[in-house]
Amino acid sequence: MSHSPKPPLTQAQLPPFTATDGLLLVAGVPLPQLAARVGQTPFYAYNRQQILTRIAELRAALPAEIKLHYAMKANPLPALVGAIQGRVDGIDIASTGELKIALDAGAPAHGISFAGPGKTHSELRQAVAAGILVNVESFREVGELSALSSTLKLPARVAVRINPDFELKGSGMKMGGGAKPFGVDAEQVPALLTAIKNAGLAFEGFQIFAGSQNLKAEAICEAQQRAYELALRLAKNAPGPVISLNLGGGFGIPYFPGEQTLDLSVISENLKNLATSARHEMPEASLIIELGRYLVGEAGIYVTRVVDRKISRGKTFLIVDGGLNHHLAATGNLGQVIRKNYPLAIGNKMNQAATEIVSIAGPLCTPLDLLADNVPLPIAQPGDFVVIFQSGAYGASASPQGFLGHPAVIEVLV
Ligand SMILES: *Cc1c(COP(=O)(O)O)cnc(C)c1O
Repeated sequence: MSHSPKPPLTQAQLPPFTATDGLLLVAGVPLPQLAARVGQTPFYAYNRQQILTRIAELRAALPAEIKLHYAMKANPLPALVGAIQGRVDGIDIASTGELKIALDAGAPAHGISFAGPGKTHSELRQAVAAGILVNVESFREVGELSALSSTLKLPARVAVRINPDFELKGSGMKMGGGAKPFGVDAEQVPALLTAIKNAGLAFEGFQIFAGSQNLKAEAICEAQQRAYELALRLAKNAPGPVISLNLGGGFGIPYFPGEQTLDLSVISENLKNLATSARHEMPEASLIIELGRYLVGEAGIYVTRVVDRKISRGKTFLIVDGGLNHHLAATGNLGQVIRKNYPLAIGNKMNQAATEIVSIAGPLCTPLDLLADNVPLPIAQPGDFVVIFQSGAYGASASPQGFLGHPAVIEVLV
């Protein structure tokens, strides 16, 4: 299909990534050189400095009293968690596999908190033994933690994960409000707090996480405000002072044309007001936000190589050496309602104009394995690199690598 030429992607469209002589630079290294050093495509590359800058900029934008946690399910690569752990106030884990990575990375147990709707007895046992905070999500967990605390002769540190009576509006993925497997319904929390008191657990506070991938600052502020008010109300029945109040996260990043970056100033202002209120109403409480995608999502790329170029009934396909098996989200199969194209480029033709419209398919024998549909790109041939941006979160670890038995992806931190 012919198409009027489009200029190459500009710096503004790919803020952190630059190019020289048409070659994408990843932390200063030209892409072909990086691919040679990795030894294969496909691979993911995460830019360490970009993540650290992101954290520093976020901290500078938010009030100093707000604590920042990394929700490591967004990207659990051990080297990346190691790079982040000293720069945040805590790591939020969702399994004991993640617990091991966080502890191995040197994260202090005190700042680790554990959420998940189905924590087993052995997972809770590991959590108590490690001395981390457990976000309690059922009455069963209270009983088990009490028994474990006695057996291990260690305190069981708990916060209550509340399923709020509100939703995060405009969220890509709702995780609170209505009937949910996560947390305990706000209405049942007073009874749960009584159970925690009777069980002698070490109560530390609340966690309220309403949703993910939100680009509307006002909606995030409203959710934080309501989370704060809910916690304040429920704190009246708590067995002790609230020392940890996790207001959730949900900060989104722009993936698609027309999406705007999140306005941090509005969120910062709101958090400042909440911190001021908390100083009077919950004087011992630290206010925490927990972010995954926002910290790492924009710092990662997924790199594949063109294996074949085919024309089917007038439509041009580039077939690349990885797809849904490594990057489920980019194919629109990770919970998205409508498939949209992630931003992408031909990583060794960054200075060439987009003169044709192509679709990009992975190597899997399923129509689901579509990385891009009808995108304008420079003319690419076998051997060229197809780079997918905004791939630092929910990539490799959120993809079905075993499906169809292709080689595993490699991940590098550069
Ligand atoms: C997934 C998750 C997060 C992180 O969400 P992001 O959209 O990646 O920031 C934070 N908290 C909890 C409880 C989660 O389950």
